[in-house]
Amino acid sequence: MQYLSTRGHPERKRFCEILLEGLAPDGGLYLPEHYPQVTGAELARLRSVYAIQGYASLAFEVLSLYIDDIPADDLKALCIKTYTSEVFGTDAIVPVRPLEPGLFVEALSNGPTLAFKDMAMQLLGNLFEYELARRGEELNIFGATSGDTGSAAEYAMRGKHGVRVFMTSPHGRMSPFQQAQMFSLLDDNIHNIAIEGVFDDCQDLVKAVSNDLDFKSRYKIGTVNSINWARLLAQVVYYFAGYFQVTSDNAQHASFTVPSGNFGNVCAGHVARMMGLPIAQLVVATNENDVLDEFFRTGVYRVRGSADTHETSSPSMDISKASNFERFVFDLLGRDGARIDTLFGHELSSNGRFDLSAEPKFAQAHARYGFVSGKSTHADRLQTIRSVYQAFGQMVDTHTADGIKVAREHVSAGVPMVVLETALPIKFAATIVEALDQEPDRPSKFDGLELLPRRVRVMAADITQVKDYIRQHCARS
Ligand SMILES: *Cc1c(COP(=O)(O)O)cnc(C)c1O
Repeated sequence: MQYLSTRGHPERKRFCEILLEGLAPDGGLYLPEHYPQVTGAELARLRSVYAIQGYASLAFEVLSLYIDDIPADDLKALCIKTYTSEVFGTDAIVPVRPLEPGLFVEALSNGPTLAFKDMAMQLLGNLFEYELARRGEELNIFGATSGDTGSAAEYAMRGKHGVRVFMTSPHGRMSPFQQAQMFSLLDDNIHNIAIEGVFDDCQDLVKAVSNDLDFKSRYKIGTVNSINWARLLAQVVYYFAGYFQVTSDNAQHASFTVPSGNFGNVCAGHVARMMGLPIAQLVVATNENDVLDEFFRTGVYRVRGSADTHETSSPSMDISKASNFERFVFDLLGRDGARIDTLFGHELSSNGRFDLSAEPKFAQAHARYGFVSGKSTHADRLQTIRSVYQAFGQMVDTHTADGIKVAREHVSAGVPMVVLETALPIKFAATIVEALDQEPDRPSKFDGLELLPRRVRVMAADITQVKDYIRQHCARS
């Protein structure tokens, strides 16, 4: 399988070449040259692979369609090492439970950091370690997080050979549970840097480092952000696993509702659907930061400034632009790289928006690609958390609540609707208390988490200090 850039660059690359990279050289995102098609017979085979051999084997089958530069035995071993019940809590790895008639919840948040990002990041940690050893190289991951991404990256990379993580976060702004989760990691290769500032200041530091090409290559700086193709690919697998759990034969369709921010999760659903998985609708659920809902309703994609980006009670969906969205628009507009370059490389940067409402292909977003959308607010979120708790005795987190609220607006008879559970309530306890007047359930392995010793360096939002810190800690070990 060869990979291309959404902005039309003529070069083609293979999976392991793009594994450790971010953007393509022309600023585009990588996508496979074509989507492998899963025929009826193949889908039936995958259904029994999942039923008999389990999630790791299903992951191997799906990943093999896209990865041809890792020997099959090695790839299989990496999948088996990643998707274990010790790491993900159950043999099903992503168990689906019924909520109300027609509506199901797929649990993706039983990994080490209790958010769905573990599903991909745990695999990425093993893939990185494997590929770096094969090349005899090292990598220093430098990133910014407001919570879920950074902790998932750290838990995936802790103790891995050849990898260090330097993760900035806004000092004092993550939830107490998130802070305890990250800062209690004492592994030598994990470095928490709390920046005196907001998340944007952290992102500016990442940009400053990635623009300093000399520093970047000397210290082998890399990223693990949500545009990484391997992360997206790993997420395709749980659409298959979810589909198999809510259907009994392949003539049936299922729909998925996805609490969305950077469009990575739902874009994996798009890929699964393009492969032929019988998905009826892909429902994009946003919070008050409704860039994506606006696009699917109107055809206008209008990114927000930081002043217009709301801080909400589903903070992992607080985005000003959706970094993976370009991948879908590339497919929507017939894979026209020059046009994507104009839209994302020029129009968006000069006008902050583009408008596809007059474009005939815009109608296909729904008609051909199955996308619909909806939005949820703080009041909706509280109301949904309450209604789910009162009716079913289940606590759901704030992001999942946004998904359930929007999913209820799109359920159609005879088609199971699966809401992806993107985090557990304990990560966002304050809003659960606001909704239910009681503390969320805490998985017992997290008892006393807040009391563990911590390792974190507090620093000004100053690029010189951050670079010095990286220099010192790369030299040392
Ligand atoms: C990251 C995240 C999201 C958004 O996922 P995208 O892939 O960015 O759309 C939603 N919910 C939670 C809990 C997350 O951590």
